[in-house]
Amino acid sequence: MLKVTRENKNLHVYKMLENAGAILEGHFGLTSGYHSGYYLQCAQLLMHPNLTHMLADESKNMLSGSIDMEDVDLVISPAVGGILFGYMLAYRMGTDMIFSERKNGRMTLRRGFQLKKGQKVIIAEDVITTGGSVKEVMDICKQNHAEVLGIASIVDRSQGVDFHTHYSFLIQLHIENFLPQDCKMCRQGIPMDTPGSRT
Ligand SMILES: [Zn+2]
Repeated sequence: MLKVTRENKNLHVYKMLENAGAILEGHFGLTSGYHSGYYLQCAQLLMHPNLTHMLADESKNMLSGSIDMEDVDLVISPAVGGILFGYMLAYRMGTDMIFSERKNGRMTLRRGFQLKKGQKVIIAEDVITTGGSVKEVMDICKQNHAEVLGIASIVDRSQGVDFHTHYSFLIQLHIENFLPQDCKMCRQGIPMDTPGSRT
């Protein structure tokens, strides 16, 4: 089992990920260049609306401890990973939802999506690793004079990213990565998968 931090809270979320086949074991080459014995494929959980719905409800409950849900105008997620979770979270909160996506490497709003001045938003993401995509969405909010009330993710892998605003996640996972030259699985000649396009 992966190391689950934060006093092993929310083990049921780990079980949901595991049962859905979202936690892959093997030998993986990550987009970061590191190798790992595990790979988190959250889409395997998010493909089940009934499970996503349960996670969205939990996330909403956590957010409502710090944020008045009545204040939230909109949920925004970075594509692609955050869309399914963000959409369900918005549905459970009774708000609309939009997503940002990259064009020529730059995070942007397309498809006629707009943020209005003074809109109060929640940013939703499936997995936060470096927090880079979320910070880019925060920048878009700032440019449009929208107010970020908080950030919600299913899984936090950041080990302490600070967004300078409320941030709630359902589970914190520590997944060990190795430099290719330090990788035991490489030394054992185990074939490597490169499953992801995570950024
Ligand atoms: Zn390796």
